[in-house]
Amino acid sequence: MSEKTYSNIINNVLKPSSSGQYFQKFNPAKPSESLGKFPQSNAQDLEQALEAAKQAFEIWKNTPAPKRAEVLYKAAEITSGQKEELAQILTKETGKPIVEARGEIQEVIDTYLFFAGEGRRIYGLTGQSELHNKSITTIRQPIGVCGFITAWNFPAAVPSWKIAPALITGNTFILKPSSEAPLSAYLLVQNLCGAGLPNGCANLLFGNGELGTLIANEPEIKVVSLTGSTEVGRKVYTACAGQLKKCALELGGKNAIIALDDANEELLLEGVLWGAFGTAGQRCTSTSRLILQKSAWSKQFLAKLSHAANKLKVGDGADEKNQIGPVISAKQRENIHGFVQRAVLAGGELLCGGKFLDGEGYFYAPTIISQIKPEMELACQEVFGPVLAVIEVDNFETALKVANNTDYGLSLAIYTQNINLALKASNQLESGLVYINAPTIGAECGGASAFGGWKHTGNGSREGGVLALDTYTQYKTIYIDYSEKLQRAQID
Ligand code: NAD
Repeated sequence: MSEKTYSNIINNVLKPSSSGQYFQKFNPAKPSESLGKFPQSNAQDLEQALEAAKQAFEIWKNTPAPKRAEVLYKAAEITSGQKEELAQILTKETGKPIVEARGEIQEVIDTYLFFAGEGRRIYGLTGQSELHNKSITTIRQPIGVCGFITAWNFPAAVPSWKIAPALITGNTFILKPSSEAPLSAYLLVQNLCGAGLPNGCANLLFGNGELGTLIANEPEIKVVSLTGSTEVGRKVYTACAGQLKKCALELGGKNAIIALDDANEELLLEGVLWGAFGTAGQRCTSTSRLILQKSAWSKQFLAKLSHAANKLKVGDGADEKNQIGPVISAKQRENIHGFVQRAVLAGGELLCGGKFLDGEGYFYAPTIISQIKPEMELACQEVFGPVLAVIEVDNFETALKVANNTDYGLSLAIYTQNINLALKASNQLESGLVYINAPTIGAECGGASAFGGWKHTGNGSREGGVLALDTYTQYKTIYIDYSEKLQRAQID
């Protein structure tokens, strides 16, 4: 079968690459299987997409938000009808187990439905004036064309977290997905166009980091939202700062589970396995450290954990029986292995894994390394693979210090049956997400949720809940004076 060649989507029209250059995308579980060729877009493509998005903004910003919501409801319905097909493609693209891929497509549907509902609740403020016969109202208004630059690990959910709040508040966008996962984004944008979004509101450009740099530096793009590594986040932030424009950063993590010696062992075991090895450890929220309170019990627990990790079924995620898929690329697998080898050389004890697995795909064995000290590389740097560092501590206070001893601040968890310690931890842990008796993963979309991190994980923006509207709106305060004589305020 011949390889399919994909096009960018600009102004609701399929546009081939201006550069004439394409990159290929392969299935990480079967690298001989190509998923297609995608444009390597350049400045000319960006210029066209920008023109379309700017023109569409003039229409979309004046469309009532409940009308905009109708498009998101329709997109949710279309996505729902294609759920299995989209999940299968997502699995081929990322290697993640099909059950996880189905969950990710459901997350897209939930995100569209949640933000469609917000279309009737884009509230502002009303307040009291110091003067007679005067009213003050503050409203939210859209900002303009948004540039979305996304990572490959959640190629459907992560773009939807940006698209839905941006569209419902009246913005238009240009999406640049990772070249490691271009296909899910293509289907997402096609479905939005098919749901009745006016031409030019949703534009898709494929390309690498150079295209990301062009987007970040484009003055007519008024908001940039990046999900990616902290290293790229710094560059994007610097570009946006130079133009004093809005920039939302959702970056890396070095997440930990604290396990106290009174933890419910069964819950903990399941939580650590799922947190550390789900999505082959390639989540920004993956549990990459287990901070274990030393006790007679901890040694036995580690033995049980390693035994269970060894039994996890690693293989092509398209096969329902496999629990862990491949990592995304040969390069990333080498990178992960390098972390493991250096940790062992530095004194870590390999309890399980630490090796490539047989098969055509980029499979890596679920790995647990104990005897890790808080200052070692494996305790501090994001690995983004199925590798768990075990750090043993004497007590609760040290556990908190170790958990906070990282530049990142995305997700921290504690397992204990002591309510006072659980609440103290939730107060003192330095991260955007805290879980009590649950692993570091499993964020939900919704009103009370706010997904994002502290420290070098981000710059304060939030996704997946109502606070995401802050990224895509700017405030305007409107004063109405209905007095018939001149009044003077104290300050103007
Ligand atoms: P990455 O930083 O390599 O790439 C992210 C995106 O940025 C890609 O689209 C890439 O093409 C683009 N890019 C690369 N260089 C650029 C530049 N100089 N300027 C502008 N754009 C550029 O990340 P990745 O490998 O795709 O994803 C893994 C990382 O993403 C991990 O660090 C993970 O923790 C993080 N992540 C964070 C979240 C979150 O919500 N906090 C969610 C998922 C992934």
